[in-house]
Amino acid sequence: MIKITKTSNPQYHDFDFSDIKFGQTMADHMFIADYEDGTWKNLRIEPYGPLTLDPSMMALHYGQAIFEGMKATKTYDGIPVIFRPHLHAERFNISARRMAMPEFPEDLFVEAIKTLVALDSNWIPRGDDAALYIRPFMVATDAQLGVRASNNYKMMIICAPAGKYYAKAIKLLAETTYTRAAMGGIGFVKAAGNYAASLLPALEAKKKGYDQVLWLDAKEHKYIQEVGTMNIFFVIDGVVVTPSVDSKTTLRGVTRDSIITILKDKGYKVEERRLSIEEIRDASIAGTLQEIFGSGTAAVVSMVQDLSYKDDVFHLDSKFEIATLVKKEINMIRQGQVEDKFNWLYPAVMDNSIVR
Ligand SMILES: *Cc1c(COP(=O)(O)O)cnc(C)c1O
Repeated sequence: MIKITKTSNPQYHDFDFSDIKFGQTMADHMFIADYEDGTWKNLRIEPYGPLTLDPSMMALHYGQAIFEGMKATKTYDGIPVIFRPHLHAERFNISARRMAMPEFPEDLFVEAIKTLVALDSNWIPRGDDAALYIRPFMVATDAQLGVRASNNYKMMIICAPAGKYYAKAIKLLAETTYTRAAMGGIGFVKAAGNYAASLLPALEAKKKGYDQVLWLDAKEHKYIQEVGTMNIFFVIDGVVVTPSVDSKTTLRGVTRDSIITILKDKGYKVEERRLSIEEIRDASIAGTLQEIFGSGTAAVVSMVQDLSYKDDVFHLDSKFEIATLVKKEINMIRQGQVEDKFNWLYPAVMDNSIVR
């Protein structure tokens, strides 16, 4: 049972939904649960606000911190819906296991998000690409120095309205010095530390005029992994190719899965396999490289206009037909404008929780 304390001072009236600066304003409420004595306790929704934490809290020192990112939208007839929450719940627990953190029961994860989104449904923006971004996360809270798995944790969910993300086509740099994830590591985990490690390479790429880094494998700098906030797709001679996630060095994106499912359903040939950067160079030279696009919850789809690798630039002078198609299809599903034939939408409507 989730105990709900509503804010007496909701802020959505004063929020400018026509000019959303993503991540700067949070919705009115947050969900919190405490892991103590081997179980999740004190499930509650409260007015959004700061926490009091012990400075020796383990997450702050040893990085036991994981998160998820997902979205809620409103269908054209006004029903709040969450996009594929069970798959995010499953991935949250895959992350938890690898980081020696407790799992959060999937049903409870979905219930908590549903209740929170229902309560803050006034924060769901309308329009193409717009959504309420949902950020579940878990942190280690033992107040003690010394490296070991924490015994206590907090699982929280906060929400922020989101408008358009990378609107224009982006420039990527295939990274040949730094790496993101090695075999046996935590590349498949949505861990806070993965992002911390990516910041310096991203800054250096930015200085050279690129928007993001394309990560290559850690051993040979040869095989393509992902962008670090997005998975990556290539269209080569009419075939859609995306790096396999089997080696556990790449995050298994929910958007990636949605795109593969939609394209296969529409009869496209989609391959998940090992893909080398040389293969992309060869396709570019041969004139068969038709599209490159990234996929992630934040942007849904980001078209890539240039990919640089060593001294070469693979320029895409493309209409991005497939990228445009999948982006539109996912947006239409989320807004209830086409049939939800894969059962991806989960309605966020309140039921039997206690409101006081
Ligand atoms: C979240 C994330 C993605 C995209 O995953 P989605 O589930 O589609 O949002 C891709 N790569 C990394 C490293 C990520 O953390």
